[in-house]
Amino acid sequence: MSSAAELLSETARRGELHHAIILHGAARENLRAVALSIAKALNCLEGTTGDDCTSCQRIERRIHPDVHFIELADDKKLISVDQIRGMVAEATLRPYEGRTQVFIIDPADAVSVGAYNATLKTLEEPSRDTTFILLTRSPDLLLPTIRSRSQSIHVGGDAPRDEELESFIRESLGRFAKQNDGSALLAIAAEVAQREDTSAAIALLAETLCAAAADGLENVSAERLLAAADGTMAALRWLVVNADARLLVEQALASLVE
Ligand SMILES: [Zn+2]
Repeated sequence: MSSAAELLSETARRGELHHAIILHGAARENLRAVALSIAKALNCLEGTTGDDCTSCQRIERRIHPDVHFIELADDKKLISVDQIRGMVAEATLRPYEGRTQVFIIDPADAVSVGAYNATLKTLEEPSRDTTFILLTRSPDLLLPTIRSRSQSIHVGGDAPRDEELESFIRESLGRFAKQNDGSALLAIAAEVAQREDTSAAIALLAETLCAAAADGLENVSAERLLAAADGTMAALRWLVVNADARLLVEQALASLVE
């Protein structure tokens, strides 16, 4: 277990954990593992930081009635308002059999602003035996009102690199540079927006644009590549309000066109 997980589990076991935790970092699997270890520590039958009791086992298998996962439905880019309303209603109830109801929102940056507004009161005045765990790549992707009500904890580890996307971006940039073909840029935007982890894909695009500026790309000045990289990073911040990722990336890449 990572040191962040150990520390949080110990705090949870003592009953001193903040009621709303933001776990952030690039490695989603690590965020999920830490969230599960917190849920175990909060509900372990042996009162430890998570062992092999039946409660911990069921949390691991995601069938514990008091540990809820609020996640993206298949091919959806947003966690729906209905999912959040369901969570808020559930959060008013007592735990079914454990000590604490745990709600793991993954990824928390996929919750729309409207849906967040439904959770604010709950996050501010939660019932005693409720803990919210919000997973995200970066706390900057969450609304300030959410951040101020939560404790943020960084979880280390790197995301596996999406090499397929990276080479697609490089090839498409090359095609755009050689043939002045704007459809290559639209193809990049479409591909990036399709990725399951859109924010990671946008960050990778910004990185690839910076690398192209450093390496040099014929017919496209470094200045324009860096302007597009800046625009791409701005697009990442706009994702907080859940604007259309594809449109945002298209606008950012427009800096490449004279
Ligand atoms: Zn246990």
